[in-house]
Amino acid sequence: MNPNLPTTAGIKLLHTPGPTHVPDLVRNAMSAQPFDLNDPRLTAVIENCERGLQRLLNTQHANVMMYTANGHGAWEAAIVNLLPPGGKVLVAGSGHFSETWAQAAEGCGAHAIRTEARAGSPIDPGLVEAALRADKAHEIVAVFAVQTDTSTGVTSDIHAVRQAIDRAQHPALFVVDVVASLAATRFEMDAWGVNVAIGASQKALMLPPGMSFTAVDEKALSAARNNPTPRVYWDWNLRKSPIGYRKFCGTPPESHLMGLEVSLQLIEREGHEAVFARHLRISRAVHAAVERWGEHGALWLMTKDPAARSTSITAIGVREGIDPTEIYTLARERFHVALAGGLGPHSGKVFRIGHLGDINEAMILGCLAGVEATLRLMNVPIGDGALERAVAVLNAHMPPVR
Ligand SMILES: *Cc1c(COP(=O)(O)O)cnc(C)c1O
Repeated sequence: MNPNLPTTAGIKLLHTPGPTHVPDLVRNAMSAQPFDLNDPRLTAVIENCERGLQRLLNTQHANVMMYTANGHGAWEAAIVNLLPPGGKVLVAGSGHFSETWAQAAEGCGAHAIRTEARAGSPIDPGLVEAALRADKAHEIVAVFAVQTDTSTGVTSDIHAVRQAIDRAQHPALFVVDVVASLAATRFEMDAWGVNVAIGASQKALMLPPGMSFTAVDEKALSAARNNPTPRVYWDWNLRKSPIGYRKFCGTPPESHLMGLEVSLQLIEREGHEAVFARHLRISRAVHAAVERWGEHGALWLMTKDPAARSTSITAIGVREGIDPTEIYTLARERFHVALAGGLGPHSGKVFRIGHLGDINEAMILGCLAGVEATLRLMNVPIGDGALERAVAVLNAHMPPVR
């Protein structure tokens, strides 16, 4: 028998913070036949994706450049375009993702300076300001910051980081990773003075993994023009072309683009504000449930400050002796709910629930019920009434029926 055939009835609920559930309309669009490379319809799809991403990023002028690569590819694009060999970058500490981005910069030959990251705490703008003030010679070329660090589910105040750069009167470019936050919470590229934003397909943009992008303003493009680091595929100035084949340094990822065009339409039809409000409402329901589960001290929310908890993902710490691998394996195999484990220093100590993208109330209640069933099957001592709390929070924040 084909081992890929499903062995159970019903659907699997995918609740990782990427990949996320892909809407049927997006999957259908992705199954269309490819265009020939000169078809004006392909040009139109690419332009619709660029314009839609600009609107979501709240930028008028930044150039959207997309890659047939995951988010790590887009990280590398920012690194090799902006940082000269041995060049300095200040990476604002937020968690595992800021740390691995710093390591990627070092792997490309740059010199990464980090501000301290405290698990579950947002970026400290004061530390960014101090590090920039200490750089009297203005050797730091760029500040890298992650809006939502997916390892702990913490969201940082990106505007406050920009203000810290301005207070230090430092000319560094500001580069922000919005991979886990774009379309789940507000991002204001122009108003917050962000020079480069980085995103990927498989989070709140509701596509399968395999595509990423950078949005690059004129200041960053001109810095890239003067940067001698060798690169071809990632080169922003080579990609600045009206021709699709040049924009992608080769054949565009047509299926992903056809999917992205539809997912951006879905987001706009619902309305950006409504999409963010839905994410906030659902994330609050998750937090309320986890707080109830944690009443006996067996588990807890990693991000203590409610204002810093992301609308995309919730990371849950577990007491020693409770194995997150067992939690997510049982949840997947017994209850058909797919969760994520801990990353980096949190491996073996944390499990994570993704609640971003194509998600509604029924889906999150199904997910929470599956997690509760798993925890009870494992005899983890948890508080009663978590699902009731989640329902109450959802109902308290429900928009009117139209
Ligand atoms: C998922 C993620 C990445 C990496 O994306 P990949 O597609 O896995 O390379 C980078 N930054 C953040 C904040 C993420 O959540």
